[in-house]
Amino acid sequence: MNPELQTSQPQILQAIGLSTAELKAALEAVGVPATASSMRVRQLWNWIYVHGVRDFRAMTNLAKGFQEILETHFTVTRPEIVTEQISEDGTRKWLLRTGPGIEFETVYIPEEDRGTLCVSSQVGCTLNCRFCHTGTQALVRNLTPYEIVGQIMVARDALGDWPSTGEYRRITNVVMMGMGEPLYNFENVKAALAIVADGDGLALSRRRITLSTAGVVPMIHRAGEEIGSMLAISLHAARDEVRDVLVPLNKKYNIKELMQACRDYPGLSNARRITFEYVMLKGINDSLADARALVKLIGGIPAKINLIPFNPWPGSPYECSDWDQIEKFADVVNRAGYASPVRTPRGRDIMAACGQLKSESVKLRASARGAALVAAELPASLD
Ligand code: SAH
Repeated sequence: MNPELQTSQPQILQAIGLSTAELKAALEAVGVPATASSMRVRQLWNWIYVHGVRDFRAMTNLAKGFQEILETHFTVTRPEIVTEQISEDGTRKWLLRTGPGIEFETVYIPEEDRGTLCVSSQVGCTLNCRFCHTGTQALVRNLTPYEIVGQIMVARDALGDWPSTGEYRRITNVVMMGMGEPLYNFENVKAALAIVADGDGLALSRRRITLSTAGVVPMIHRAGEEIGSMLAISLHAARDEVRDVLVPLNKKYNIKELMQACRDYPGLSNARRITFEYVMLKGINDSLADARALVKLIGGIPAKINLIPFNPWPGSPYECSDWDQIEKFADVVNRAGYASPVRTPRGRDIMAACGQLKSESVKLRASARGAALVAAELPASLD
């Protein structure tokens, strides 16, 4: 037999995104003794997630022999940065790639008291929300835990957000408000956020992680139980006739069922409120009667309401509400006792605002199938 056929290339495993149990098993599979593997996992996690080290040789407390094993069998390479854009308001957007046609975006929004990273969960989306440009892009595929955690690693690298490289803790909040529906990629999002929230991982408090859903009702309770992050709901209408059109998922899970899932969300309290996102569409959902219907609907739920000025896109069937109408709408909501900050659009000059990213990415790169992000703007208050 040709000897060349017998020597197969060793499989290189991406270590980022593996749970401690998966990493332990992977280490044992390449010869690390079971008696040492738990300690090795702790050491590795510390280098990878606490220090952001990208080279196994720089993991100085590991024996040379173990470093060699790691180099032979593992990698901690980040997703490739295709483009980075920086807005005049400081917002940064990265287009990342992990394979042919697998491109997704991440947006960093610095504010005075926090820095928020808006993370994608899918390439494309299945939901077809009428006001969302990304909704016109078919789902390419779910992102893996590596690709989700990798977005944060890339942003930390670029921001110098590691203990040894600069101003640590620039990313204080993570919102799953990028492209895709996180509850349609439940297992991968759960695995990724477990690493983000782990004190030995990226160590962000679950209170500083927000998962946004268009209303995948059967998964909401599980999200609370198993992920335990803050919850945001893309509500956008208080009546089924309107919501059926804006968010077609409403035909599957209507407002009543959605509200019940919100009321049942584990751990809900005044200190742990649900954020309701409401895009302001002229003549569609922005009347004062709509505002009253909205506050009635969420009555009794510890909640914040985020009013999002609609970002139009070429061919979009809607217009943004007039500013004074947004203010009147916000008044009704405020008087009912809800904080209702209006989201200030961020990063418009780099096309990083909600619903804008797809068009720009397609223009820049005709081949970019996955180059859209739904939201680059965030609830004004997430903690
Ligand atoms: N699929 C999830 C995660 C996306 S979050 C969800 O729907 O919650 C992105 C947010 O931006 C959602 O609230 C979405 O409805 C909103 N959005 C999408 N396109 C927009 C646009 N053109 N203008 C303003 N907000 C938009």
